Parts: sequence; structure tokens; C-alpha cells
Amino acid sequence: MATTTKDWPGVSREVLAKDAPQLLPLQDSLPSLAIITSSSDVFTAAKSGFQVDLPPDHVPLAVVRPKATGEVSTIVRFATSSTPRVPITVRSGSHDFWGRSSAKGALVIDMRQINSVTVASDRKSATVGGGILAADLLTQLEPHNLLATTGVCPSVGFCGWSLLGGYGPLAGSYGLGVDQILDATIVDPNGKIIDKCDSETLWGLRGGGANFGVVTALNIKVHPGPKVLAGFVVFPLEEALEVLNKYRELLEEDFPDAFSGNATVGNLTGGFPGLSIVFVWSSSDLNAGKIFLEKIKKLGTAKSAVKEKNLSEFIKVAFPPTPKKSMVTSVYIPELSEGLIRIVVDNAKRAPAGSECFAHFHFSHGESTKPNAGSCFNVREPHLLIEIFGTPASKAAEDKDPGLKDKAYHWVKSLESELLDSQLTMDGGYLNLLDPSVPAKDSYGGKWNRLLSLKKKVDPENIFSNACPLLLGSN
Ligand SMILES: Cc1cc2nc3c(=O)[nH]c(=O)nc-3n(C[C@H](O)[C@H](O)[C@H](O)COP(=O)(O)OP(=O)(O)OC[C@H]3O[C@@H](n4cnc5c(N)ncnc54)[C@H](O)[C@@H]3O)c2cc1C
Repeated sequence: MATTTKDWPGVSREVLAKDAPQLLPLQDSLPSLAIITSSSDVFTAAKSGFQVDLPPDHVPLAVVRPKATGEVSTIVRFATSSTPRVPITVRSGSHDFWGRSSAKGALVIDMRQINSVTVASDRKSATVGGGILAADLLTQLEPHNLLATTGVCPSVGFCGWSLLGGYGPLAGSYGLGVDQILDATIVDPNGKIIDKCDSETLWGLRGGGANFGVVTALNIKVHPGPKVLAGFVVFPLEEALEVLNKYRELLEEDFPDAFSGNATVGNLTGGFPGLSIVFVWSSSDLNAGKIFLEKIKKLGTAKSAVKEKNLSEFIKVAFPPTPKKSMVTSVYIPELSEGLIRIVVDNAKRAPAGSECFAHFHFSHGESTKPNAGSCFNVREPHLLIEIFGTPASKAAEDKDPGLKDKAYHWVKSLESELLDSQLTMDGGYLNLLDPSVPAKDSYGGKWNRLLSLKKKVDPENIFSNACPLLLGSN
């Protein structure tokens, strides 16, 4: 998968004239811009992302990797003023499960070389490049004894993650990704650089995704760090029903904001069945976390590897970003109930052998449940985001059972249907992890009409038509 730092060369003018002649004027106006087309040796690496199960024709026209906001502006102006218009997509971590930061025949603006981190003198905020990845952000904050909230995967883009919500292990302490955004620099659909967004555009960016512009920088909150208490507490799958019910009782009694709470049940990494509590404790009092950890270990036959470490160290090792053929979906549930636990554990026991098929619970509690009037992200009451994921655990497992991918995908859809039928769910789902065929409207509730009006005002011609979620042309 492409990384932040690779400085790939573009193709020659002759090759560009053959592969994508419509991009020659762009090359002329920005001679230093590397334009990578299908004849390039690095095209496969440059166009690929986490999801490898995409239709064969999901191939962009070219990938460009700008290094500055001005270059992004030139690219957008060029694309929108061309006749016919050159479709564009914006990419940072390339972890979208449906490959929506690329599109057939589009010019992919890969932001990963715009990745600086500048800490403000009061150490309460930082300005980060629009292509910064989670682990790079955390690593650059470490010398300042600071951290930021991120998701659990090191190579997820901070923009992709935060613009649509942003669940992470520090949500209880500091809120969701959208809550971290103080200001943004964007390149609007006309290619104009907007250094300071008005409050309505910021409201839309905080939950409306890539619909309003290319984000070239975000001013975000940063927090004291970088140490957290982090690791996994793993129980055998046979104990999952009992342990999760005791866990539910424990959290009902005491759910400290400093504790992440996330849990995974099913066939975990490598295909091993189990229940894994993702233990992250973030506060100045790590000893309180050690006491809480002991309560969790007593819930069953626990194997635990939880230590004091930098958050970056934890996410780099815990969730390595190996590209996969994978299916994901998400549902929102108001609480961890006995009924929910029974459905999830029963399904976990039926996960196909050789698969990684699991349900991952992201708990929204503490700071992430405080209303944020400056954000169109809708779900602010305490809830669980259940991420349902399925993939063959390895190539060897798939070679052994060629039907494994379909079985894994079926498992995801079947658990999703059972949860939807159970009446336990809330409206909508987490748009970062929700099948694009599901209308986005339900996920915005009463904020939908305002969001649609903003989109029509800012991007009436739908220049960002490949954005997630699809606002214009959707239900
Ligand atoms: C292994 C893995 C682990 C994950 N873990 C979590 C988790 O812990 N918590 C969580 O909430 N989610 C998680 N996700 C979901 C993740 O947040 C989304 O897939 C997110 O959209 C990925 O962002 P990206 O920048 O990496 O992806 P991309 O595919 O590059 O982009 C995703 C979307 O964001 C847009 N975008 C990206 N950068 C910009 C920019 N600079 N300006 C404007 N638009 C932009 C793209 O156009 C696209 O629509 C995970 C996904 C994977 C694959």
C-alpha cells in the first residue's frame, strides 16, 4: 500500500500523451507534479488501498501527489475547467472499504505528501496536513509530550476518519474525530483556497465528509500524552457470553471516561476464536487504569498484555494495515444488552473456519456523547457502534477453501440482518463503515436538510461527486 513518504516519479510527457493526453495542460502548468498513469511501474502501488476486492474496472485515469495547497488548487481548477470535466477524487489513507477515494477514469489527488504537523505555542492545538496518517500524527506529537485522538489503525488518514465521525480509543476522554476539528484550510470546488472556513462550512465538514472541498490542513485539538495504558485482554470464545454479560454489569456500574471499552468477538486476527477487550486507558492517572484492568481480568480466563506505552506504538502493532478482500458494515445500538450479546456471540460461534469474522464494539460514552452544535454528525447519545467485518484470515486459508470469501461476506450480511430484525438498532449507521447503497439520510436525522442545502450552495455542480457520502443524487 502506498505510504506517506514515497516520492514516486511521474511518467514522461510522451507516456502522458499516450495514457492520458487530457492531463498534458496540467503537467505544463505544474511541471514538478508527478503524474502517475497506467504505464508507470508504480501505478499499481499508487492506485491501491486497503480494499483489494474492487471491480476490475475500478481503475483511475492517474494519481497525483501534490506537496502544497497551491498545487491542489491548480489541480482542482484544471480539472473543473477542462472540457469535458476531468473527474477527481481525494485520498489520504486510502482505507475506505469501497475504494471511494478512487474511481474509474478519475484523477486521484493523493494528499499523503501534505503531512506536516505544527504544534501551537499554547500546546492546545496543532495544524496538520490534509494527508496526515494516524500513526505519523501521533509520532510527530510525541516529542511535544502530546497526543491526538485517532482510530485504531496506523495508516488510516486523519481527514478521512475525522470528517465522517471518527471513533477511537480516546473518545471517552476527548470526543470523536469531528470534535477535534477547530478550523480547516480547504480548496473549494472552484479551486479557491479558503484559509479560514465560515462556521456553516465547518459544521458541514465535521461529519459531512469530502463534500465541500479538498481539506489541505486541519487545525485540531491536541492533548497531554503520549503515554497510555494499552493492550488486549483476551478470553476464550466459549466464555464470551458470560464474560460480556459481566462486562456489561461492570460498565453499567462504572464506565470511566478514560477507558476505551472497545471489544471484539468472533474470529480475531489470524482466525483465532475469542473475545478481545481492547484496553486503552488515557488519563494522567495511569494507576487508576491498572486497578480497572484488574477488574476486567477477573471477568473470566483472561490472557492479558496491557502495558504503559505510547499510543502510536499500540496502534502500529495492534492493527497492522494489511490490504484485504473484506466486507464491512455497521449498526448503531443504544446499549450493550443481554439480547444483543446473545445474538452477537451466537453468530461469533458460527464464524467460518479460516476467516477473520468478527463484531467490534466501539463504545460512545463520556466526552463523545456531549452535544456539538458545530457538527452535522448526528449520533450524540450514549451508544454502541457495532462494526461487522469479514475476510479470509490468510491466503492459505482461502486456497484451502475457495468459497471462504463468500462465506465470510455472507456472515457479515447475516449478522447485520439479524441485528436489524431484532429491533435493537437505532436509525442510520456509521457512514465510514456503511454500504454506500444504504441512503445517507437516516444517518443525519434532523440535520439532513441543512446538510443538503449547504452542499447545493457550496458545490452546486457536484464537483466532489465521488465524495462519501453521496449527497446530491442520493435519496
Ligand atoms: C483497518 C481499518 C481500521 C479502521 N479503524 C477505524 C477506527 O478505529 N475508527 C473509525 O472511526 N474508523 C475506522 N476505520 C474506517 C476509516 O475511518 C474510514 O475508512 C476512513 O474513511 C478512512 O480514511 P482514509 O483517509 O484512510 O481513506 P481514503 O480512502 O483515503 O478516504 C476516505 C474518504 O475521505 C475522503 N478524504 C480523505 N482525505 C481527504 C481530504 N484531505 N480532504 C477531503 N476529503 C478527504 C476521501 O475522498 C474519501 O471519501 C477503519 C478502516 C480500516 C480499513
